[in-house]
Amino acid sequence: MKFIADVMLGKLAKWLRILGYDTLYYHKVDENRLLRDIQDGRILLTRNNRWRNLIPSHQLLFIRKNNPREQIREVIKNLNLCPDKDSILERCIVCNQILNSLPKTAVEGKVPEYIYDTSNKFLCCPRCNRIYWQGSHRDRMLKEIDEILIEQ
Ligand SMILES: [Zn+2]
Repeated sequence: MKFIADVMLGKLAKWLRILGYDTLYYHKVDENRLLRDIQDGRILLTRNNRWRNLIPSHQLLFIRKNNPREQIREVIKNLNLCPDKDSILERCIVCNQILNSLPKTAVEGKVPEYIYDTSNKFLCCPRCNRIYWQGSHRDRMLKEIDEILIEQ
């Protein structure tokens, strides 16, 4: 399932990307772009009623909650999503690209020394070159995701 997160839903978009879902995010309303992107089957997540007349109802989910954690639960529940833990943190949080594996030698000097010494799996975004690694950050996110999924 692929998504478009409308303006004001940036944090929700980030969480969907963390969970591995292909999610476009719009910083501002662009009707033409949205109508074009919706054509490949994306579901629009929005807080704006104006889209109800323009987008088929099966491709639109109106988000009622304010809190991003409640919003992600709202999406999971309403669309019957089953997030796959193996897909978590395989997509760039910033630009939605699938991350590539990097050999450890390629990140020497580009990540903090402590991280270099203690991590063995490194990933890189092909668009923004941001480097990701497994470690405390990922563990924290997995824990938070567990909490989100349990609370629903
Ligand atoms: Zn990126």
